[in-house]
Amino acid sequence: MKVGVVIAAAGSGRRMGGERNKILLPLEGRPMIAASLELFDSLEEVSEIVVVTRKEDLQKIEEIVEATVKNTPVQVVLGGETRQKSVYCGLQAFNSEPELALIHDGARPYIKGELVRQILQEAKKHGAAAVGVPVKDTIKQVQEGLVLKTLPREELWAVQTPQVFSYSLILKAHQQAESLGLQVTDDCSLLEKIGHPVRILPGDYENVKITTPEDLPAQALCLVGFGWDAHRLTENRSLILCGVEIPHNRGLLGHSDADVAVHALMDALLGALGRGDIGELFPDSDPRFKDISSLTLLSQVMELVQEEGLRINNIDLTILAERPKLAEYKESMRSNLASVLEIPKARINLKASTAEGMGFIGRGEGIAAQAGVILSSRR
Ligand code: MG
Repeated sequence: MKVGVVIAAAGSGRRMGGERNKILLPLEGRPMIAASLELFDSLEEVSEIVVVTRKEDLQKIEEIVEATVKNTPVQVVLGGETRQKSVYCGLQAFNSEPELALIHDGARPYIKGELVRQILQEAKKHGAAAVGVPVKDTIKQVQEGLVLKTLPREELWAVQTPQVFSYSLILKAHQQAESLGLQVTDDCSLLEKIGHPVRILPGDYENVKITTPEDLPAQALCLVGFGWDAHRLTENRSLILCGVEIPHNRGLLGHSDADVAVHALMDALLGALGRGDIGELFPDSDPRFKDISSLTLLSQVMELVQEEGLRINNIDLTILAERPKLAEYKESMRSNLASVLEIPKARINLKASTAEGMGFIGRGEGIAAQAGVILSSRR
């Protein structure tokens, strides 16, 4: 089977709210059109690809094509002022006459190879086939703001691309439309006009056409925060780090349990949230926080994270202490944090370091901690 592919990429993208062609908008780190180019390039049935674009985008599309299409003869040609005219230009540009012509919208980046293979088989048998999906909404015919009638939903399909035709058939349909001055919005309609049946193959709801900005996948929101804290070591206090009581001859001094690691982590979370610092949230003048477990405070900060519809992507926490050695407590510390924050332990990295005898940490006068966190939106 010899298949020529026409990719329609001449739209101006006005509905995307800008003059930039929407097929050049980035999707998963590359221009949207690259996804379809890569797919058709990978199919051995495809003997040739023609991308139809407008003059303003010609150079950019040529660069994308060159970077993406590796196996298949490909050319970029200029289209006409309507989609119909552009597709016709593309159909006439094939270097060698294919058996089937496949027409695809450059703004449908989610097309899958398996569906393309099915539609090719269907078109080979019947001469004309398109993918479509049954509509989910009730469709009404409306005139001047008033419902004229409700259309029978069970008969309504939203037709997508690819649409595949016998090459001679679709060429003839375009020639005829041209001479009669017919204007349609897809190629199946031309076949309907000349009375040739078009098979509809159940497609994929994911194969959407990116038409307005809402069609683009929601960009994940990422917020980064950093925290730092230090507390003095003193006698007659327990040493609590990440909620674990660690045997040592001294402990950290503070209004709460002085869990310096959790304090740094809370400040990182508040930093990402843009909510100031723990001093503002839990002032040490407030008797409610006297000797309180910092893990309790951490769960309150976590509630703020959840209220914002955010989740913790990952945490990186470093404790700076000359003594005691912390290695054997790291697992219990991570478990405590994971359970309070309700995230997998694997998302929490804990490091212990010394200051090689330098400064207040090195002299054993205190312990410091620093934390980095990334919050992301739940979507
Ligand atoms: Mg503190």
